[in-house]
Amino acid sequence: MAKIRRLPQSVINKIAAGEVIERPASVVKELVENSLDAGATRIDVAVAKGGIEFIRVADNGCGIAFEDLELAVASHATSKIGDAEDLFHVRTLGFRGEALASIAEVSHLRLRSRTPDSDSGGEIYVEGGLVRSLAPCGCPVGTVVEVRQLFFNTPVRRKFLRSTTTELGHISETVAKLALAHFRVHFTLTHNDRPVLQLPAAAGLLERIAALYGQDLADSLIPVSSEDGPVRLYGYVAHPAFSRPNAKMQFLFLNGRAIRDRNLQHALNEAYRGLLTVGRQPVAFLVLEMPPEMVDVNVHPTKQEVRFLDSGRLYSQLLGTLRREFLSSDLSTRIPAPTPEQDGDSWRSPHDPEKVRATRQQIVEWAKGELQQRLAGNLATGSETAKAVSDTAHASSHSSETARPALRSGETIAPGEQRAEHKRDLATAVVELRSAGSGASDFGQTTESLGRKVEQGAHPELGLGSEAPAKVLQIHNRYLITESDEGLVVIDQHALHERILYEQLRQSLQDGPLTTQQLLIPEPVDLSPVEAALALENKELLAELGLSIEPFGGTTVLVHSYPAMLRHMSAGDLLRSVLAALAEGRSQPDRATLLDSILHSLACKAAIKAGERLAPEQVRALLEQSRQVLHSHHCPHGRPTMLVFSREELDRYFRRT
Ligand code: ADP
Ligand code: MG
Repeated sequence: MAKIRRLPQSVINKIAAGEVIERPASVVKELVENSLDAGATRIDVAVAKGGIEFIRVADNGCGIAFEDLELAVASHATSKIGDAEDLFHVRTLGFRGEALASIAEVSHLRLRSRTPDSDSGGEIYVEGGLVRSLAPCGCPVGTVVEVRQLFFNTPVRRKFLRSTTTELGHISETVAKLALAHFRVHFTLTHNDRPVLQLPAAAGLLERIAALYGQDLADSLIPVSSEDGPVRLYGYVAHPAFSRPNAKMQFLFLNGRAIRDRNLQHALNEAYRGLLTVGRQPVAFLVLEMPPEMVDVNVHPTKQEVRFLDSGRLYSQLLGTLRREFLSSDLSTRIPAPTPEQDGDSWRSPHDPEKVRATRQQIVEWAKGELQQRLAGNLATGSETAKAVSDTAHASSHSSETARPALRSGETIAPGEQRAEHKRDLATAVVELRSAGSGASDFGQTTESLGRKVEQGAHPELGLGSEAPAKVLQIHNRYLITESDEGLVVIDQHALHERILYEQLRQSLQDGPLTTQQLLIPEPVDLSPVEAALALENKELLAELGLSIEPFGGTTVLVHSYPAMLRHMSAGDLLRSVLAALAEGRSQPDRATLLDSILHSLACKAAIKAGERLAPEQVRALLEQSRQVLHSHHCPHGRPTMLVFSREELDRYFRRT
């Protein structure tokens, strides 16, 4: 073992900086929090190259006196607490006195500031923790901090930074969170001089939500509120139909700070239990206000996690409030009583009671339908013997038959190939359409309509073919039951269609950009500021997917063309789901994986849904299309698309053997 030594101060500082400053978004968070603590009513954030090259935060807050400038950038120097006791009554966002020092340690930092009572301001310039200059200067009241060359002296950190888009994504999420928690403050965010967020002071949380995520989402929200002693809970939760695949749209604010809390997140999910399908997450904007004595914020370096004095009671309050709001029996008629106002100002913008009532009614209806379907689903798959044996069937047929690659669009099957094609269908464990006894003629028809379909370009409208195939039954509007040589086949209509679409998209993308459909009149699509920025940053990638877009002022973009394969989706829906997938897949290691994850989510979005009633010819077209794609026994998410109950199994089940 080497001798124990004291670390030099510069190493200590870098270790401390590493805890707080992980990426450009952490710098933005710390600087904006300082501006909020300074009482700013307007905060402008400008970044370049995802914040890696440049970050500027300007505010109109109380400023820093010239004689304090050097202390402001020194570590463990703060104006916010005086002694240890103060730690338990923290009313500001900062209190550790470490942020500016940490940022200055790993960047080139320039801070200019002026207090209202002084005629001129001062400027301090720090490089890698060393103060290079300190001088008076002219500037408006308030503070401007500029950070360049982040991590210039910690190359490992710098290497861990992701693409400009990813870092910008983190920054806009950070600003959005702070802007939700402080909706009365005017915020702007620009990237490479292009506006990303423009958020004028809002009168209420809902107004800010609408500005960030669009009026549609805001309109779908249900206000919730409750009080338990000194603890006040309020905010908005979304209709279950607005659920998301992840928890990114769940916001929890505590005394002006965005926090994460497993316990409260669990309460939220619990409240939605039975209302959401597996893997979906509710959307929620929840605000907690309590005396600072009831919570310890000094447990996490970036204060994203806190410790509550009585977390069990909070859990019950949240769960109880949400349940009461949308699961009580008189849900459809009750309109929430106005909440007591705090400090005389209202957090809630005027809300149309009629709209609230309608949304509640919708939820009740929706929940009823969902539960019924869930029950139906259980009946169809509940049996223990119902195991997915398609893999086995797949493997065994393959041993005697060489698999042929799936048909490509435009490829047709020669009549002489019919038998072989037919066998291949069995090999891929899809479906057997032929009913016993009506062999050849029926079969000819199948192939013929397949040919027709291929001519029409293999797309998902499923309106092809004319007659229902023999022995296919749609049950509960979600499963198709049919027979194969092996036995009984149960198909999940959504999963199968999703798989088909995914394969088709993937195959055509291999041959270059997706075939597009030009729109005669380009369609304007209103996006949220974050979506709009993402869209414009990724124009090329979108073009590869067949979506060509142009900026159209503000956060609106014009869609000129979109993939012909997905023409039954609206341009807006399509663009938004690609952007959602893009935002989620940003951290994917390479472009191919990113594109793939976008295709998965597009396929899922565009596929027929469970619960959709299909016309016989749609059923037929779906089964026919499944012949064209390989691996169709699993949907892209890895769920099986079909189950096969072998005849032997059925015989055994009915004690026939
Ligand atoms: P903390 O916020 O934990 O006190 P910081 O390192 O972030 O520590 O800031 C150090 C001090 O600098 C703050 O306590 C505050 O007095 C002053 N300060 C920093 N940013 C601003 C700002 N934008 N406006 C006014 N004062 C600021
Ligand atoms: Mg601070």
